[in-house]
Amino acid sequence: MQNQRQLKNWFTSLEKHTPLVMAGPCSAETPEQVLSIAHQIKDSGVSVFRAGIWKPRTRPGGFEGVGEIGLPWLEEVKKQTNLLLATEVATPRHVELALKHNIDILWIGARTTVNPFAVQELAESLRGTDKIVLIKNPVNPDLALWMGAIERFYRCNLNNLGAIHRGFSTYQKTDYRNVPQWQIPIELQNLLPDLPLICDPSHITGNRDKVAQVAQQAMNLNYNGLMIETHITPEKAWSDANQQVTPEMLKTLLKNLHYRKAEESSLEYNRQLQQLRSQIDSLDENLLEILEKRMNISEEIGELKQQFNVAVYQQKRWQTLLQKITARANEKGVAESFIVALYHAIHQESIARQEKMLNDLN
Ligand code: PEP
Ligand code: MN
Repeated sequence: MQNQRQLKNWFTSLEKHTPLVMAGPCSAETPEQVLSIAHQIKDSGVSVFRAGIWKPRTRPGGFEGVGEIGLPWLEEVKKQTNLLLATEVATPRHVELALKHNIDILWIGARTTVNPFAVQELAESLRGTDKIVLIKNPVNPDLALWMGAIERFYRCNLNNLGAIHRGFSTYQKTDYRNVPQWQIPIELQNLLPDLPLICDPSHITGNRDKVAQVAQQAMNLNYNGLMIETHITPEKAWSDANQQVTPEMLKTLLKNLHYRKAEESSLEYNRQLQQLRSQIDSLDENLLEILEKRMNISEEIGELKQQFNVAVYQQKRWQTLLQKITARANEKGVAESFIVALYHAIHQESIARQEKMLNDLN
């Protein structure tokens, strides 16, 4: 799918606050709950009220959402507060009911995006409408699957689209509920620059105390909006109790957020930027030259190994080199994880070159 300017039309025509803030509970629980949250957040820069009506739960037996009866509660929210409404749809029946109850924005959950059959059915069920559809990333870190889901809606003539980054599930224990893997949404931004991109720091962190920090990271990366789970009594919430913030916390978070501009036209900024960028460009030239020299020497070593019939991979040498270089990186304040990843790539290329030489000679 190619970038399309029209993808961002819905976003620009909303002319709401920048970033677009969607907030509200993980799940609609009672009419009083949704109304009180909506009233407490409506004047804090929030444009869209989010609430899950149907909840995809990992295991059966948990709270699976109030279902259809919650939709009139949301309509009442809109009537009383003027906030736009957003909810998750996972089946064509959900779509039918959400349309009937005038839900403005439909989002596709992470567990649905992974399934092209389900996504196709949803896209077909929305054909001919002009609904805004936001597609959450799939639970697994697969950009092609995410893009594929977006494209399925686009091919059903839905042009009011957006993406929600909610992090990716992992087996490893990490500081996040769902690791952000920022490079994936950044790549999506590169491929579809006009597709509005919204960050969901609630599902990324799984922890209300960390939501603000991830929301700021998203602003630094030029995201267009935020989706933040908000509840009047988060610790008593029927789902995702650990990650929901109070309306008060939401206000503070939004007040303290530094909004970053996408660009800046002032001469002074552009002059300094030009200067710094030209330094980077010349350093990149040097880097390439050094890498080329390093690879040439690797090849000479390869020849030597071949001449003396020695194996290409030398584990001891690689370990010593890695230790030395990480120690130096630490002294210089360069992140160890970065240098390790860089040297793995360099070492892999050296090995590949030496192996190729051996194969060519045989
Ligand atoms: C949600 O937004 O409440 C939700 C279930 O999200 P996700 O699909 O990201 O898990
Ligand atoms: Mn949730």
